[in-house]
Amino acid sequence: EADAARAAAFGPAITRDGREVEVCANIGGAEEARLAAEVGADGVGLLRSEFLFLARDSAPDEATQRGEYQAALDALGGKPVIIRTLDIGADKQLPYLRLPAVPNPALGVRGARLWASHPELLETQLRALLGVTPLDTLHIMLPMVSEAGELRRVRERLEAIASELGLAARPRLGAMIEVPSAALCAASLAAEADFLSIGTNDLTQYTLAMDREDPALTARADVLHPAVLRLIQATVDGAAGRCPVGVCGAAASDALAAPLLVALGVDELSVEPARVPAVKAVLRRLDAAALAAELPELLTLDDATAVRERLNAWLARAD
Ligand code: PEP
Ligand code: MG
Repeated sequence: EADAARAAAFGPAITRDGREVEVCANIGGAEEARLAAEVGADGVGLLRSEFLFLARDSAPDEATQRGEYQAALDALGGKPVIIRTLDIGADKQLPYLRLPAVPNPALGVRGARLWASHPELLETQLRALLGVTPLDTLHIMLPMVSEAGELRRVRERLEAIASELGLAARPRLGAMIEVPSAALCAASLAAEADFLSIGTNDLTQYTLAMDREDPALTARADVLHPAVLRLIQATVDGAAGRCPVGVCGAAASDALAAPLLVALGVDELSVEPARVPAVKAVLRRLDAAALAAELPELLTLDDATAVRERLNAWLARAD
């Protein structure tokens, strides 16, 4: 019986109306990759590589990085692993990489914008990533992308290094959707990307102009605000099946938000490792098409509180 329960937990999450949704794990490094595998994650939807860069005196060299990325891939045993390139700036700082103090760091040089001033960081990281095997399970994801050119430039660098190394395989390259411009231009990003993943933590912050670190605003900086939901819908519509769309922000782990994200058309949710079984269980109870039929009404409500109430009531009725 315990074996049957375990097998069920490890199986795919298929909604009542037959939608298969990948439930992956968010991790900080190779150590947590083992945990992700143990809880039955379908892969890793976000490895925050900046953790490898924190708590040291200098940036990790190519071999150190490759070792960590390879260990994460090995732990997942052939399941897809999305490794995000260094996401530094705003709330995330490195002691050995002093970025100039600016009045609005959240609107400053962070994430993928860093490559213009620090190309050597990207170069080393791309070389380390291209050193892992097998390359076809590796997905490289860029944070804080606001236009397709940022993706194109990294693709060119990736191609150049891969051919220099004589590699036959290529990793997939994707963009995070964390700012409104990326969500609104999702079609143009989807033309360049192999996958998109919505970072709802930052997307909420930038859509509502509410600092995610400000305790006075945490209660109001709610992903269920209709404006944020419409940008998620715009992302799925923009991708139009050209590439898969996932969500790797905290909303994916949330029992209320997760069904709504699937109803909005998202293909993959990446959640805290401990939440993988619970999120799979929630999705297996969901009729995604029935909830999708409620979207025109939910997305035109006044605020997040109204969406929360309506969604809670709908899910309670459906259960
Ligand atoms: C996000 O912004 O939703 C995200 C997943 O990235 P981070 O929380 O690391 O900024
Ligand atoms: Mg983010």
